[in-house]
Amino acid sequence: MDRDRDSRPGSQRVSSADLIDLDRRLLWRPYTGNEEHATVSPLLVERAEGPFIYVQGGRRIFDANASWWCSNLGHRHPRLIAALRRQTEHLVHCAFAGMTHEPAVRLAEELLEVAPAGLARVFFSDNGSTSVEVALKMAIQYFRQNGEPARYRCVTLPGAFHGDTFGAMGVSDLEEFSGIFEPVCVSAFRPEPPQAERSAQETAWPRPHQWGDVVDQVELIMDRHSDEVAAVIVEPLIQGAAGMRVWPEEELRRLREITAKRNVFLIADEVFTGLGRTGAMWACSRAGITPDMLCTAKGLSGGMLPFSATLTTQRVFDGFSGGRERALMHGHTFFGNPLGAAVAREVLSIYREEGVLESLPPKMNAIRTAFERFSRFEGTNHPRSCGMMGAVDLGTGGYHGRLGWEVYQEALKLGALLRPLGDTVYLCPSLTISLEELSELIDIVDEALNRVLTSRV
Ligand SMILES: *Cc1c(COP(=O)(O)O)cnc(C)c1O
Repeated sequence: MDRDRDSRPGSQRVSSADLIDLDRRLLWRPYTGNEEHATVSPLLVERAEGPFIYVQGGRRIFDANASWWCSNLGHRHPRLIAALRRQTEHLVHCAFAGMTHEPAVRLAEELLEVAPAGLARVFFSDNGSTSVEVALKMAIQYFRQNGEPARYRCVTLPGAFHGDTFGAMGVSDLEEFSGIFEPVCVSAFRPEPPQAERSAQETAWPRPHQWGDVVDQVELIMDRHSDEVAAVIVEPLIQGAAGMRVWPEEELRRLREITAKRNVFLIADEVFTGLGRTGAMWACSRAGITPDMLCTAKGLSGGMLPFSATLTTQRVFDGFSGGRERALMHGHTFFGNPLGAAVAREVLSIYREEGVLESLPPKMNAIRTAFERFSRFEGTNHPRSCGMMGAVDLGTGGYHGRLGWEVYQEALKLGALLRPLGDTVYLCPSLTISLEELSELIDIVDEALNRVLTSRV
C-alpha cells in the first residue's frame, strides 16, 4: 500500500504532495508571509499523541511548544477524548443566553475552587483574545456606569501581548504583531522601556532588576491620569509572545498593592501562564495575589477545543446590577459551549487526580539547569526559566532575527519542533512529558544550539 495515501474508506485519495499544493493555492495561514507560504512546505501533521507530533510519513517529533502553549496535558489525553465523547451523546451546543447547562455550571464551580481566593464569578468565552476583550469591557463598563465615565483607559507593560483582536491589540505593545493597526486601536498608556539597556546591539526589554522601574512608572501614570485609568493589564511573571520575558513576583505583588490603593482594576492575562505553566496553578497564586479579573484559555481545554473564561469578583459583578441596559454586552455564538466546558472540567479533574502539578518540580529543575548550561555557547544571552518554560536569546536580532530559525531547522532534523520567537529559543513542553522524554528533548536543543553556534565562530 502506498504509505503516502489515505486509504480510509470514504476519503478521497489525496497524496501529501497534492495536499501541500492545495494548501499553497487555497489557504492563508497565520503569521506566515506570502513568500514563505509559496516556497516553504509546512509540516503536514498526520496525528499527535502525548508530547509528540507525527508528520508526513509517520516521523515522530517533539512538540516542544505544546502547540502554541495549549497542549499542557499532551495531545489526545485519553480522559479528554472520553469526556468529549460522553458529552457529544447529550448536548453539543446551545446558546448561552436564557439557557444554561450542567457542564458550564459545574465547571464554574470547579474553576473557582482552584482560582485565587476572592474570585467569585465566571464569564465563559471561546478564545484567549476574547477573554481579554471581556475583561477590558468589564473594567471599562464598570466605571462608565458607576459614576466615573472618563475612566476608560488601560495601562499596559512594555512588551505586552494580549491577543490579536482590536481591544487586545490596543493593550498590547509588540510592534511586530500589531504596530500596523496602531492608528485604529484605542491605545493604552505604557511605561517606557528602561533607557539604560536600550542599545542598537540588543533588543530592549526590561531585565528582572529593572522591573522596579517599570512598576514605578505605572504608578506615576496612574497618578497623573487618576480619573482616566480603569485597569492595569499584565501577563503575570512571564510575557510569552514578547520572547518569554520572566519578571519578578515581588513586582507583581507591588502592582497589586498600588492598583488596589487607587481603586484601579488589575487584569491578569493568564492565557499562557495559567494551568500550571509557572509551576503553580496560576502565576497569580505563585505570587500570592488575587487580580480583579483573570483571563484563562489555551490550557484550560487541554489544547483540544477553543474555550476560555474571564474570572472576576463579586464586586465587579455587582457593578452591573440593574436592568438589561446595564448588562455586559458581549456574547459570541459559541460562548460556554458544552463540549468545551465538559473537556475543561475533565482537565481540572486530571490536575486533581493525576498530580499534574506535583509531578513538575524535577522537570522544572531539568529545564532550569539545561538553560543555565546553554549559556556556555558563545552568542547566547539571558538564559532564564520559570516553571515549565526555559528560554535563551541568540545574537541581537530580536523578533526578526534568523538565528532562532537556524536552530529550528537543526532541531527539526534531530526530531523536535522548536519554533522560536525570532532569536529567542525556548522550551514549553506539555506538563505531562516524562522526565526521560524531557531529557531527550533537552539533548536535542543542546545539539541544535551546538551546531548553529559552533559553526558561527
Ligand atoms: C495566546 C495568548 C492570547 C490570545 O489567545 P488566543 O486564544 O490565541 O486568542 C492572549 N494573551 C496571552 C498572554 C497569550 O499568550
